[in-house]
Amino acid sequence: MMTKNYDLHCHSTASDGTLSPTELVLRAAEKGVSVLALTDHDTVAGIAEARAQAAKNGIELISGVEISTLWQGRSIHIVGLDFDIEHPAMQQLLANQAQLRDQRARAIGEKLAKIGVENAYEQAKQLAQGGEVTRAHYARYLLQMEKVSNIQQAFKKYLGSGKLAYVKAEWVAIPEAIQVIHAAGGQAVLAHPLRYNMTNKWIRRLAEEFAAWGGDAMEVAGSGQAATQRQLLAFWAKTFGLKGSVGSDFHFPCGWVELGRGLNMPDDVEFVLAEKA
Ligand code: AMP
Ligand code: MN
Ligand code: MN
Ligand code: MN
Repeated sequence: MMTKNYDLHCHSTASDGTLSPTELVLRAAEKGVSVLALTDHDTVAGIAEARAQAAKNGIELISGVEISTLWQGRSIHIVGLDFDIEHPAMQQLLANQAQLRDQRARAIGEKLAKIGVENAYEQAKQLAQGGEVTRAHYARYLLQMEKVSNIQQAFKKYLGSGKLAYVKAEWVAIPEAIQVIHAAGGQAVLAHPLRYNMTNKWIRRLAEEFAAWGGDAMEVAGSGQAATQRQLLAFWAKTFGLKGSVGSDFHFPCGWVELGRGLNMPDDVEFVLAEKA
């Protein structure tokens, strides 16, 4: 039974969110979130600031990270929750991932230059304000330059898998990501299983392997889901012996995704932070 209001997946300026960790926590407080995990892409750089602000607002801040992994040639996101951010194995993994991110960001910039979009790496880097550079920053730059008329189109035309400026990265494999999260004392959560453009057959295969490798949970409640989608995720969690997590994947203030909004977990799924419920 979850009595508090949880949101265990969101982003700050440490990666591709637009709010600083402080602003993010202030917004979470305003929206009535009581337990918040900050899960930036491949970095824990925002956690200390978020934790300091959370203490002032009476919010319980859970350390988090969203690790990009490579599985069957696809990029799959694994959220780590409630671990020691100073753990050497985690620090090492995140340093490697940051290097892969920068290499890939440069390669994306080169591809864009070849098709007439100059200086994209520098501009994406500037938009990232010192945080990890993601494809979302490139999408924002392409929008700014009026190369596309919305963010979706930037992925459809340039940044999505196989598109004009797509560059595959050799992210860590899932078993290693799980192992490092566990070594640092945390839990490994398969993020947003319905957002990979995979058939149900492939998602089930992914969930099954993730569980077999020792994964702990999968995200069951997310933003903008149909009731039937949440039920399907709950069913898969139970089928593969995974606990359930809840997260908005908030990146920026907008009408369709909000911190802590509508993230109720189906009662028959074991909650990933049961001991904190
Ligand atoms: P990266 O981790 O650098 O590959 O970037 C992935 C990020 O880009 C995701 O976390 C989203 O924030 C964003 N993203 C990916 N696909 C889309 C899409 N179709 N529309 C909008 N944002 C997207
Ligand atoms: Mn993102
Ligand atoms: Mn993700
Ligand atoms: Mn995310």
